[in-house]
Amino acid sequence: MEETPRFTTRRRMLQAGSLAAAASLGAASQARAQDKIAPEMVMYQTTPKDGNKCSACQHFQPPNACALVSGTISPNGWCGVFAPKA
Ligand code: SF4
Repeated sequence: MEETPRFTTRRRMLQAGSLAAAASLGAASQARAQDKIAPEMVMYQTTPKDGNKCSACQHFQPPNACALVSGTISPNGWCGVFAPKA
């Protein structure tokens, strides 16, 4: 059964709230690698989304790490706390 647009919007709002909370948690604890956010918590994927990718994110740490998300991060990846470089 298809979701109604209203439900989809509400679900997206809830997801956005969860991502914001996860981002705050990650920002507060980014000094230690074990305190980073797990990739699955921020919907990390190894491919770009809507033209955005890790190499263009202010949290990306070349060649393959992230200040907020744990594990190996692809320059072509993306996650829900993507923040474009200024
Ligand atoms: S989009 Fe940004 S915050 Fe997310 S994994 Fe990539 S570099 Fe890290």
